[in-house]
Amino acid sequence: MSMSLLPLQRPDNLTTGAGHPIGDKLNIITAGPRGPLLVQDTPFIDEMAHFDRERIPERVVHAKGGGAFGYFEVTHDISRYCKAKVFEHVGKTTPIAIRFSTVAGESGSADTVRDPRGFAVKFYTDEGNWDLTGNNTPIFFIRDAMLFPSFIHSQKRNPQTHLKDPDMVWDFWSLRPECMHQVSFLFSDRGLPDGFRHMNGYGSHTFKMVNADCQPVYCKFHYKTNQGIKNMKPEDAERLASTDPDYAIRDLYTSIANGEFPSWSFYIQIMTFDQAEKFQWNPFDLTKVWSHKEYPLIRVGRLVLNRNPTNYFAEIEQLAFDPSNMPPGIEPSPDKMLQGRLFSYPDTHRHRLGTNYLQLPVNCPFRTRVANYQRDGPMCMFDNQAGAPNYFPNSFSAPETQPQHVETRFKVSPDVGRYNSADDDNVTQVRTFFTEVLNEEERQRLCQNMAGALKGAQVFIQERWLSNHVISIMFFYHYYSNQTPPPHCHQKVFTPLDFLHVLFVRSGITI
Ligand code: NDP
Repeated sequence: MSMSLLPLQRPDNLTTGAGHPIGDKLNIITAGPRGPLLVQDTPFIDEMAHFDRERIPERVVHAKGGGAFGYFEVTHDISRYCKAKVFEHVGKTTPIAIRFSTVAGESGSADTVRDPRGFAVKFYTDEGNWDLTGNNTPIFFIRDAMLFPSFIHSQKRNPQTHLKDPDMVWDFWSLRPECMHQVSFLFSDRGLPDGFRHMNGYGSHTFKMVNADCQPVYCKFHYKTNQGIKNMKPEDAERLASTDPDYAIRDLYTSIANGEFPSWSFYIQIMTFDQAEKFQWNPFDLTKVWSHKEYPLIRVGRLVLNRNPTNYFAEIEQLAFDPSNMPPGIEPSPDKMLQGRLFSYPDTHRHRLGTNYLQLPVNCPFRTRVANYQRDGPMCMFDNQAGAPNYFPNSFSAPETQPQHVETRFKVSPDVGRYNSADDDNVTQVRTFFTEVLNEEERQRLCQNMAGALKGAQVFIQERWLSNHVISIMFFYHYYSNQTPPPHCHQKVFTPLDFLHVLFVRSGITI
């Protein structure tokens, strides 16, 4: 579908940025018909200087994306868990913005690459904005925020060649076995979602909910697509990457423009503090899920997208999500990745968009009134809170605190230190995923997809990946449970090289 620019009934008067009428927009001012040009040509210089500054830094991660607007509607009461106004009563609606994205590629990269998808939701609530900066998977590659910049560097371009580098990708993953769970999801069918509408979203981190009696519980957020899960075949994704690299943005925009409004059912999982103490894993470990069987999904509401942006740059490129945007009733858990993001996201926005990024229309908490003691800074818009006092406390009628909204207290008593979590059971949930969630065809495809990507890395890296416990357990189980050990390999214990061979031979790939 081609998107034509909106025809206006009566054209506006053309002006400079300062509002002066422009008489001629086609011909530069020159001394004589052959030049040179004059600095006094304001219509030219005004536009050229602005053009030179059109780009803001693209996001270091999640640079390529699309988004839309709509609403969240409460369908089930969860006020026993959470006092946040967004869940106040059944039937309540709150405006939302959602941005979907790929992770590693630049803003001009293809939509149909194997990569997690960002799924970030901003709720414009009555008590300030609430941002859930999630993904299309409930887990992540790493569990310690210290590793994040290195992890992302390994997925992006080689500093010398400026090429994507399978050695960097698999070197990092194989050195950090906690990546296995997310890597297994990535190379399963869900690693190539068909656009943005046919995938689930997850808040991924563990959060805290607090009710009106100040009782806290831990929680996770899930949004299940009502369009049904739909994934792409690798060959189709590859073809589209060259023939329609904006496939997912186009699909989202077109469906909304045609009145087909995508929606997601919104669920929570709840874990009490007591259950968290007894949980078999660290409940704040972002590389693990909480089993649906032990912590069933609780229905809350639905997310609906029914409005496209009217301007991509203003409303999507400048849309800034920040996990520290939490209204009363929602608080952080000790999740190390979440805690790292609480710092990193607003820090990024202050660099990318400027100190006053929260004043931009798409980011400002328009359902409430901002009243505080922050002033000035670049691009300060509106009245800068006019003559209201800019210090606190003060004796004048300036904003007061609301003690009923103070954060819940919690105990922290352990020794301060740098705790190594590298071996925090990287195996069990991956094995469950491989052996109990996937069926045989899905396992085969996972092997094939993984082998196809792994073969790009050097052999010592391939070996290390395969020697990691989890992958050994996965493939060991797989081949023995099917009682079809490869003909060349009769010994009881496979070496990593044997696994490598099996993986590639079974996937029909020669190296
Ligand atoms: P369940 O059988 O109750 O849940 C398995 C879940 O796996 C499903 O509900 C679905 O999550 C998800 N799933 C199904 N097919 C795929 C696929 N091809 N790729 C990725 N995810 C898929 O078991 P548990 O809750 O005990 O979890 C077992 C394992 O399932 C976990 O170890 C984890 O690896 C995986 N898993 C669990 C999720 C969770 O939140 N509990 C979510 C995703 C995966 P959904 O309904 O969210 O689509």
